[in-house]
Amino acid sequence: MDNSTNQPALQQVTILGATGTIGLQTLDVISQHKNRFSVFALTASSNVKSLLNLCQQYSPQYAVMLQAEAAAELSRQLKAVGSSTTVLRGEASLNYVASHESVDVVMAAIVGAAGLHPAMAAAQAGKRVLLANKETLVMAGNLFMQAVLDGGATLLPIDSEHNAIFQVMPLRRSNNISESSLASVGVKRVLLTASGGPFRNASLDELKAVTRSQALNHPNWVMGPKITVDSATLMNKGLEVIEAHWLFNALPSQIDVVVHPQSVIHSMVEYIDGSVLAQLGNPDMRIPIAYGLGYPDRLTSGVSSLDLLTTARLDFCAPDMIRFPCLRIAYEALNLGGTAPAILNAANEIAVEAFLAEKIGFMDIPYIIESVLSASEIESVESIEQLVAVDARARLVATVQMRALC
Ligand code: NDP
Ligand code: MG
Repeated sequence: MDNSTNQPALQQVTILGATGTIGLQTLDVISQHKNRFSVFALTASSNVKSLLNLCQQYSPQYAVMLQAEAAAELSRQLKAVGSSTTVLRGEASLNYVASHESVDVVMAAIVGAAGLHPAMAAAQAGKRVLLANKETLVMAGNLFMQAVLDGGATLLPIDSEHNAIFQVMPLRRSNNISESSLASVGVKRVLLTASGGPFRNASLDELKAVTRSQALNHPNWVMGPKITVDSATLMNKGLEVIEAHWLFNALPSQIDVVVHPQSVIHSMVEYIDGSVLAQLGNPDMRIPIAYGLGYPDRLTSGVSSLDLLTTARLDFCAPDMIRFPCLRIAYEALNLGGTAPAILNAANEIAVEAFLAEKIGFMDIPYIIESVLSASEIESVESIEQLVAVDARARLVATVQMRALC
């Protein structure tokens, strides 16, 4: 229960990707603050069973399913239990519930490029956008940050590293997330921590033999399958470098990655005077989610206290870009600029999907991404329509590369 005495008005929340790991953890935090938040809409792609269950628990005004058959089935089952939730379907409906005038807060937690349009819709409509979907910034960082400014939206990063950096940035900058340069607020660089994933100490030969189930076994975090594989290849950290570039107006040379296996320090900011500020906590996404929901207030999240005596050690080492080429390729795509990060993202999504389907090996993932990038023309980013076309083209090239390996 929320114990504060001056209760703000009930906030209406849309959760995009409600059936995913971030979506479910968001609902967990919301359930702890029912006098502060109300669920307006929940969305999913095809998981009828989970969305039905969530609709019964949270009685949203709308439930949206991407897939038409799944929407029809959900609608039938909700009617059978006497629910008043309206079921909508398709991409346009995702944008509708992300930008609806009754909505205050949008949790953008769809996985992959599919999350771009509804996140843009929420930004353009001036919502408080809790951004978990890092692919939005990787694909369309400049357009998304402009939409946040033009729409008067409040952007709060949910990715734990970026949330940590946001928390330890100077206050005047947090209020105006990407406007000024880092140097102008006395920041020298940001340090993104990386757990190193399950294969931190594996040799190149061992990495070549990694199986799907080994890659899905992350040591510290429970996450959806795509980001879990991204964490194992270190592409997740590469995507996060690009995400940090856009969120904090940081130059590539101002973003460093440090491997920290305990995942207790969630990231750091170094100031020009040599001070380094870090945010620590147990590795549980309900911390950044509660921060985003409550900002600028602090809310309880249900996460237990960090026990430093049990943690005992905090270790650090440099990332190995030879065994984990995805991180190097992501820095290169950021330095190339323009459409390069969107191409990287699309190729990665195809490669990870193929790896999860056990069609290619673990080390084929960076090979495919690098081949697609070198076969593609890099353009400057002009519009979302252009990025959608670039994304589709890169997926085709990646599919050809992937088939050649099968
Ligand atoms: P999950 O795979 O667990 O969940 C994905 C959600 O998106 C599900 O609700 C799924 O619906 C829905 N979805 C999938 N494809 C589509 C589509 N094409 N259109 C609409 N909805 C779709 O992912 P996570 O919760 O792990 O991650 C979500 C995002 O948050 C990712 O971008 C990830 O990088 C980011 N993130 C996640 C973290 C984590 O700890 N999990 C940490 C930091 C960032 P259905 O269930 O029906 O398939
Ligand atoms: Mg992260």
